[in-house]
Amino acid sequence: MNMNIKRVSRNVLAVAAAVTIAGLAVPPLAGQGQEPVDLQAIYKIKEEGLQRSKVMEITSYLTDVYGPRLTGSPNIRTAGEWAVKEMQSWGLANAKLEPWGPFGRGWANDRFVASMIAPSAAALIGYPKAWTPGTNGPVKAEAVLAVLSNDRDLDTYRGKLKGKFVLTMPARPVVPHFEPEGHRYTDAELQDLASQPIAAARGRGGAPGLGRGLADPGFAARRTAFLVSEGVAATIEAGGDDGAVFVQSGGSRNAQDPPTVPQVVLAVEHYNRMVRILEKNIPVTLELDVRNTFYDADLNAFNVVAEIPGADKADELVMVGAHFDSWHSGTGATDNAAGSAVMMEAMRILKTSGLRLRRTVRIALWTGEEEGLLGSRAYVDEHFANRQTMATRPAHAKLTGYFNVDNGTGAIRGVYLQGNEAIAPIFKAWMAPFENLRMTTLAIRGTGGTDHLSFDAVGLPGFQFIQDPIEYDTRTHHSNMDVYDRIQAADMIQNAVIVAAFVYQAANRDALLPRKPMPKAPAPPTTAQQGR
Ligand SMILES: [Zn+2]
Repeated sequence: MNMNIKRVSRNVLAVAAAVTIAGLAVPPLAGQGQEPVDLQAIYKIKEEGLQRSKVMEITSYLTDVYGPRLTGSPNIRTAGEWAVKEMQSWGLANAKLEPWGPFGRGWANDRFVASMIAPSAAALIGYPKAWTPGTNGPVKAEAVLAVLSNDRDLDTYRGKLKGKFVLTMPARPVVPHFEPEGHRYTDAELQDLASQPIAAARGRGGAPGLGRGLADPGFAARRTAFLVSEGVAATIEAGGDDGAVFVQSGGSRNAQDPPTVPQVVLAVEHYNRMVRILEKNIPVTLELDVRNTFYDADLNAFNVVAEIPGADKADELVMVGAHFDSWHSGTGATDNAAGSAVMMEAMRILKTSGLRLRRTVRIALWTGEEEGLLGSRAYVDEHFANRQTMATRPAHAKLTGYFNVDNGTGAIRGVYLQGNEAIAPIFKAWMAPFENLRMTTLAIRGTGGTDHLSFDAVGLPGFQFIQDPIEYDTRTHHSNMDVYDRIQAADMIQNAVIVAAFVYQAANRDALLPRKPMPKAPAPPTTAQQGR
């Protein structure tokens, strides 16, 4: 999931509220007859998916063997090539890496060692930020605390930081974790999620990025230029606690952009210790060896695609997808090997069960999601419609729906309807066989931060499932603890079965799924999603 793009869609909700206020009768949703559900097919899907699941084996390859999968890195290419071969071995058609771009240069961390040397020896838990340079060999140097928040701070420290490890933030308080980190949705939470949110009832002040907008927009660049001109050895900041370190990007994918310095994120407890020693005017000496490599040869990225060709409606399409890329400190397990493995396994179940699919089913595993849903946007633009002009391609009329999994390892508990009223009774019927797997909730609201938005933005039915949070926000999302061991096997197995069943229903339904009206206004221009 990309947290920069997490937002709730409200436009449809305002319309619904207006209808209620005017006292108009909402036309009955029934009348088209009960949506048929093929329970024989569901039996076969459950049989294959619950008894002979390969989802955890797929997950282990994507994480243990090929993770992490930062877009543009050698790892993600090897992972993509493995996924293509694997899907070919199941008999899927047209399995390939489909290039898109330009994305920019790739990056990988090859070595990271960080220790405190004095006043006491200690190994440090830490990671470099993506797209930052390494230290060019082991570097032993003094640490200094220099909080650089404004131009006055730059003047204060000018000429004093050469060759130093610069601690750029004050010590951050660490509080005990009284709340459990793992969580499944309660019935009350699901009920709340299912209710129609009304825009006017929302509190103010929750606008994402508000603080960032008010900050001096040029200061970050001036601060970076200052650190480069000072010749600091590296900057060091504090990431999460309890061994979880949250790390994203600190540099640019564009080699023409101004350079930056080595940037490292340490476990907050280790960071705070150094700050407390420095505050006693006792010198702290560190040794860091950070080896990072940039890859400039191919500035394009790729999505992984494969198909099961349809029968009498083969020119029409159902799509499933998940993002394949990850951040670099863990192995990208819950974000998002989980979704990729569930989607691959759903395709395997459908193919292996031999069920007849009227429409073609296509899987697409996106890259560049973490940098702003880039891979899925490029794909939608190439195949379906341009999000700026809303000019459509012929395939736009042929895609019945897109299903996405990117909310971690948690069990599917329902579907976000993304404001699509007409689809509720259809999904309600499809969901019924999975009540015994605790999938019960349809949320009319939209959810954000995942690749279904790329489809929704051009009027295509795109859906993200509602998933139990488990430890996503508390521990795994974008952290070094996003690893295989945090994946819940039972949840993964059932998720693949549910996705396969939804895809089966979508592929064999007589009519295409109902759509919301085509968006009229061009989508707002995308802001730079380079994480900082
Ligand atoms: Zn993410």
